[in-house]
Amino acid sequence: MRIVLIGPPGCGKGTQAARVAQASHVPHIATGDILRRAVASGSMLGDAVREAMSSGELVSDEIVTDLVAEQMADLDAGTGFVLDGFPRTVEQAIALDVLMEERGPLAVVELAVPEDELVRRLRRRRDTDARADDDEAVVRERLAVYHRMTKPVLDFYKARRSLITVNGHLPPEDVTERIMLAGDPVFDAHFDSLTGRLD
Ligand code: ADP
Repeated sequence: MRIVLIGPPGCGKGTQAARVAQASHVPHIATGDILRRAVASGSMLGDAVREAMSSGELVSDEIVTDLVAEQMADLDAGTGFVLDGFPRTVEQAIALDVLMEERGPLAVVELAVPEDELVRRLRRRRDTDARADDDEAVVRERLAVYHRMTKPVLDFYKARRSLITVNGHLPPEDVTERIMLAGDPVFDAHFDSLTGRLD
Protein backbone atom coordinates (compact mmCIF):
# COMPACT_ATOMS: atom_id res chain seq x y z
CA MET A 1 0.00 0.00 0.00
CA ARG A 2 1.66 3.21 -1.19
CA ILE A 3 -0.70 6.11 -0.66
CA VAL A 4 -0.18 9.82 -1.16
CA LEU A 5 -2.83 11.96 0.54
CA ILE A 6 -3.39 15.45 -0.77
CA GLY A 7 -5.88 17.96 0.54
CA PRO A 8 -6.32 21.47 1.90
CA PRO A 9 -5.69 22.40 5.53
CA GLY A 10 -8.62 21.18 7.61
CA CYS A 11 -9.58 18.34 5.25
CA GLY A 12 -8.68 15.69 7.82
CA LYS A 13 -5.60 14.52 5.97
CA GLY A 14 -3.45 14.04 9.08
CA THR A 15 -6.10 12.13 11.02
CA GLN A 16 -6.97 9.94 8.05
CA ALA A 17 -3.35 9.27 7.14
CA ALA A 18 -2.66 8.10 10.70
CA ARG A 19 -5.70 5.80 10.71
CA VAL A 20 -4.95 4.28 7.32
CA ALA A 21 -1.28 3.75 8.22
CA GLN A 22 -2.20 2.06 11.47
CA ALA A 23 -4.81 -0.19 9.89
CA SER A 24 -2.43 -1.19 7.10
CA HIS A 25 0.66 -1.53 9.30
CA VAL A 26 2.70 0.87 7.21
CA PRO A 27 4.56 4.00 8.30
CA HIS A 28 2.82 7.39 8.28
CA ILE A 29 5.17 9.97 6.82
CA ALA A 30 3.83 13.46 7.59
CA THR A 31 6.01 16.30 6.38
CA GLY A 32 4.25 18.83 8.64
CA ASP A 33 5.03 16.68 11.70
CA ILE A 34 8.63 16.10 10.60
CA LEU A 35 9.13 19.82 10.09
CA ARG A 36 7.54 20.71 13.44
CA ARG A 37 9.76 18.17 15.18
CA ALA A 38 12.83 19.50 13.40
CA VAL A 39 12.03 23.05 14.47
CA ALA A 40 11.31 21.99 18.07
CA SER A 41 14.51 20.02 18.44
CA GLY A 42 16.58 22.80 16.94
CA SER A 43 18.33 20.05 14.96
CA MET A 44 17.84 21.67 11.59
CA LEU A 45 18.72 25.12 10.44
CA GLY A 46 15.29 25.79 11.80
CA ASP A 47 14.89 29.54 11.36
CA ALA A 48 13.83 29.47 7.71
CA VAL A 49 11.53 26.53 8.36
CA ARG A 50 9.93 28.12 11.40
CA GLU A 51 9.42 31.38 9.58
CA ALA A 52 7.75 29.74 6.57
CA MET A 53 5.49 27.57 8.71
CA SER A 54 4.40 30.31 11.07
CA SER A 55 3.37 32.55 8.20
CA GLY A 56 1.53 29.81 6.30
CA GLU A 57 4.03 29.72 3.44
CA LEU A 58 5.67 26.57 2.14
CA VAL A 59 9.08 25.43 3.28
CA SER A 60 11.49 25.21 0.33
CA ASP A 61 11.13 22.28 -2.06
CA GLU A 62 14.74 21.37 -1.48
CA ILE A 63 14.48 21.04 2.30
CA VAL A 64 11.22 19.10 2.21
CA THR A 65 12.31 16.83 -0.64
CA ASP A 66 15.53 15.97 1.20
CA LEU A 67 13.52 15.11 4.31
CA VAL A 68 11.18 12.83 2.38
CA ALA A 69 14.09 11.20 0.54
CA GLU A 70 15.69 10.50 3.91
CA GLN A 71 12.53 8.83 5.21
CA MET A 72 12.17 6.77 2.03
CA ALA A 73 15.78 5.64 2.22
CA ASP A 74 14.97 4.05 5.59
CA LEU A 75 12.22 1.91 4.05
CA ASP A 76 12.75 -1.30 2.09
CA ALA A 77 11.68 -0.99 -1.52
CA GLY A 78 8.75 -3.32 -0.84
CA THR A 79 7.45 -1.50 2.23
CA GLY A 80 4.35 0.60 1.84
CA PHE A 81 3.63 4.00 3.39
CA VAL A 82 1.10 6.76 3.71
CA LEU A 83 2.62 10.03 2.62
CA ASP A 84 0.85 13.03 4.14
CA GLY A 85 1.72 16.59 3.11
CA PHE A 86 3.96 15.80 0.15
CA PRO A 87 3.95 16.66 -2.72
CA ARG A 88 2.62 20.19 -2.26
CA THR A 89 4.15 21.66 -5.41
CA VAL A 90 4.62 20.34 -8.94
CA GLU A 91 8.40 20.38 -8.35
CA GLN A 92 7.87 18.08 -5.38
CA ALA A 93 5.65 15.79 -7.48
CA ILE A 94 8.42 15.48 -10.05
CA ALA A 95 10.92 14.73 -7.30
CA LEU A 96 8.57 12.08 -5.94
CA ASP A 97 8.49 10.37 -9.35
CA VAL A 98 12.25 10.00 -9.12
CA LEU A 99 12.06 8.66 -5.56
CA MET A 100 9.46 6.10 -6.69
CA GLU A 101 11.46 4.72 -9.60
CA GLU A 102 12.60 1.71 -7.60
CA ARG A 103 9.20 1.18 -6.00
CA GLY A 104 5.75 0.24 -7.22
CA PRO A 105 2.92 2.50 -8.34
CA LEU A 106 1.38 5.12 -6.06
CA ALA A 107 -2.26 5.66 -5.19
CA VAL A 108 -2.69 9.43 -5.21
CA VAL A 109 -5.75 10.39 -3.20
CA GLU A 110 -7.29 13.84 -3.02
CA LEU A 111 -9.39 14.45 0.07
CA ALA A 112 -12.06 16.89 -1.11
CA VAL A 113 -13.93 19.04 1.41
CA PRO A 114 -16.02 22.15 0.64
CA GLU A 115 -14.31 25.41 1.54
CA ASP A 116 -16.90 26.59 4.09
CA GLU A 117 -16.57 23.30 5.96
CA LEU A 118 -12.77 23.69 6.01
CA VAL A 119 -13.04 27.12 7.55
CA ARG A 120 -15.49 25.81 10.15
CA ARG A 121 -13.19 22.95 11.09
CA LEU A 122 -10.09 25.10 11.29
CA ARG A 123 -11.88 27.56 13.51
CA ARG A 124 -12.87 24.76 15.85
CA ARG A 125 -9.32 23.38 15.82
CA ARG A 126 -7.90 26.79 16.69
CA ASP A 127 -10.09 26.86 19.78
CA THR A 128 -8.97 23.45 21.02
CA ASP A 129 -5.50 22.89 19.61
CA ALA A 130 -2.17 24.51 20.20
CA ARG A 131 -0.95 24.87 16.64
CA ALA A 132 0.51 28.29 16.11
CA ASP A 133 -0.32 28.24 12.39
CA ASP A 134 -4.05 27.87 13.07
CA ASP A 135 -4.30 31.59 13.69
CA GLU A 136 -7.02 33.08 11.44
CA ALA A 137 -4.77 35.11 9.11
CA VAL A 138 -2.32 32.22 8.78
CA VAL A 139 -5.12 29.79 8.00
CA ARG A 140 -6.33 32.08 5.25
CA GLU A 141 -2.81 32.18 3.82
CA ARG A 142 -2.47 28.38 4.02
CA LEU A 143 -5.70 27.99 2.06
CA ALA A 144 -4.49 30.49 -0.54
CA VAL A 145 -1.16 28.67 -0.82
CA TYR A 146 -3.06 25.42 -1.29
CA HIS A 147 -5.00 26.89 -4.21
CA ARG A 148 -1.96 28.48 -5.78
CA MET A 149 0.72 25.82 -5.29
CA THR A 150 -0.99 22.50 -4.59
CA LYS A 151 -4.03 22.55 -6.90
CA PRO A 152 -1.62 22.28 -9.87
CA VAL A 153 -0.33 19.05 -8.30
CA LEU A 154 -3.86 17.64 -8.57
CA ASP A 155 -3.90 18.59 -12.26
CA PHE A 156 -0.49 16.95 -12.69
CA TYR A 157 -1.89 13.60 -11.50
CA LYS A 158 -5.26 14.12 -13.19
CA ALA A 159 -3.51 14.44 -16.54
CA ARG A 160 -2.08 10.98 -15.92
CA ARG A 161 -5.45 9.64 -14.90
CA SER A 162 -4.03 8.64 -11.57
CA LEU A 163 -5.87 10.96 -9.22
CA ILE A 164 -8.49 9.40 -6.99
CA THR A 165 -10.85 11.90 -5.38
CA VAL A 166 -12.41 10.86 -2.12
CA ASN A 167 -15.23 12.81 -0.50
CA GLY A 168 -13.78 14.02 2.80
CA HIS A 169 -17.12 15.36 3.99
CA LEU A 170 -18.40 11.98 5.12
CA PRO A 171 -18.23 10.35 8.57
CA PRO A 172 -14.54 9.72 9.38
CA GLU A 173 -14.87 5.90 9.24
CA ASP A 174 -16.34 6.11 5.74
CA VAL A 175 -13.52 8.34 4.59
CA THR A 176 -10.94 5.89 5.99
CA GLU A 177 -12.67 3.01 4.25
CA ARG A 178 -12.57 4.79 0.89
CA ILE A 179 -8.91 5.70 1.21
CA MET A 180 -8.08 2.09 2.10
CA LEU A 181 -9.99 0.98 -0.97
CA ALA A 182 -8.11 3.47 -3.14
CA GLY A 183 -4.82 2.03 -1.89
CA ASP A 184 -5.89 -1.54 -2.50
CA PRO A 185 -4.47 -3.03 -5.71
CA VAL A 186 -7.83 -4.62 -6.56
CA PHE A 187 -9.73 -1.39 -6.22
CA ASP A 188 -9.93 -0.76 -9.98
CA ALA A 189 -13.38 -2.29 -10.01
CA HIS A 190 -14.72 0.67 -8.03
CA PHE A 191 -12.85 3.40 -9.79
CA ASP A 192 -13.94 5.43 -12.76
CA SER A 193 -10.65 6.60 -14.23
CA LEU A 194 -12.43 9.08 -16.49
CA THR A 195 -13.93 11.04 -13.63
CA GLY A 196 -11.41 10.05 -10.96
CA ARG A 197 -14.27 9.43 -8.56
CA LEU A 198 -14.40 6.56 -6.18
CA ASP A 199 -17.96 5.47 -5.49
P1 ADP B 1 -1.98 21.45 6.92
O1 ADP B 1 -2.17 20.45 5.83
O2 ADP B 1 -3.12 21.49 7.88
O3 ADP B 1 -1.61 22.81 6.42
P2 ADP B 1 0.63 20.26 7.69
O4 ADP B 1 1.00 19.79 9.07
O5 ADP B 1 0.57 19.23 6.61
O6 ADP B 1 -0.76 21.00 7.88
O7 ADP B 1 1.67 21.41 7.24
C1 ADP B 1 1.96 22.51 8.06
C2 ADP B 1 2.99 23.42 7.39
O8 ADP B 1 4.22 22.70 7.17
C3 ADP B 1 2.61 23.94 6.01
O9 ADP B 1 1.77 25.08 6.10
C4 ADP B 1 4.00 24.27 5.43
O10 ADP B 1 4.51 25.48 5.96
C5 ADP B 1 4.87 23.13 5.97
N1 ADP B 1 4.92 22.00 5.02
C6 ADP B 1 4.43 20.75 5.23
N2 ADP B 1 4.64 19.96 4.16
C7 ADP B 1 5.27 20.73 3.22
C8 ADP B 1 5.74 20.51 1.90
N3 ADP B 1 5.59 19.32 1.28
N4 ADP B 1 6.34 21.54 1.25
C9 ADP B 1 6.51 22.71 1.85
N5 ADP B 1 6.08 23.00 3.08
C10 ADP B 1 5.46 22.03 3.78
